Amino acid sequence: MGNLTRLKKLINEEISKRGPLKLIKYLQRKKLLKRNIKCKVCQQKMELKKRVNNGDQYAWICRGAAHGGHVKQTSVRHKSLFSRSKVSLQRWMQFIYRFSQGLRLRQIDMIDDTIAGSTTTLSKILRRRTGQQIGGRREFVVIDESHFRHKRKYGRGRMAGGWKRRKWVFGMLGIKHRGKTRAILRLVEKRSRRHLVPVITLHVRIGSSVISDEWRAYRVLPNLGYEHHTVNHSRWYVDPRTGAHTQHLERAWRSYKEQIWRLRGNRNDRLLSEHLTVIEWNEWLAKKHKNGTLGRLIYDISKKYR
Ligand SMILES: [Zn+2]
Repeated sequence: MGNLTRLKKLINEEISKRGPLKLIKYLQRKKLLKRNIKCKVCQQKMELKKRVNNGDQYAWICRGAAHGGHVKQTSVRHKSLFSRSKVSLQRWMQFIYRFSQGLRLRQIDMIDDTIAGSTTTLSKILRRRTGQQIGGRREFVVIDESHFRHKRKYGRGRMAGGWKRRKWVFGMLGIKHRGKTRAILRLVEKRSRRHLVPVITLHVRIGSSVISDEWRAYRVLPNLGYEHHTVNHSRWYVDPRTGAHTQHLERAWRSYKEQIWRLRGNRNDRLLSEHLTVIEWNEWLAKKHKNGTLGRLIYDISKKYR
């Protein structure tokens, strides 16, 4: 049985007598729980034992002679993602699984929990890919800015008082032949040259072919060593040379916006920024993992708590 099939089975099945141990062992193999723990008092290796009085039904136990055989007990969650949480391991894994499916950044029933209560624990655990660069000879780059605002089709009152965000999402999409794309998404204060150009020079290789609309902030691009193509938004799809590439950007924008709207992730800058991180993480790291998003998520958590 594949790793992930096993996890899906473990998190969905009713916890039987052996259930909690199976999940604990699985989480240990995945390095989400510690495999070995030393007794704080006598430094001996502790043993994993059944404990009825414990929420996880198992705990680390030591009855060392150094403490007169008295039981010293440590949680199976010691130094793990779950250690300050009261939510069951099974619920946690359901949450992690759903997160990996892109269904939710946070789960309503996790909000009261000590850890999950601080909203988006998981998005903070994702390892950031830093210093990404796109472009070069084999990759076109399409750039654009967007507000990512809610469509107000449900009436004007909907966002009353709730709309505080003024920042722009600046997107840079690398497109290789065969239409393979990867995006860099950044929040910028304004869409002025002063705010956009440093982001471009940081992430887009000099000499790249860059396609944008005719926004004046981009006029400087040829002077910076880029091969700059502009498209007029009204002709966005028409130009045969750049049209195909700009369609990729349109499609990518639409998909990011839909994800974020669906999760109501643009209510404030912090939440929006977290969603952008997740989208980027997914494109740059998760999709490349042999076990996909869930595999990469489990890997990132294990690295954080090793
Ligand atoms: Zn001990």
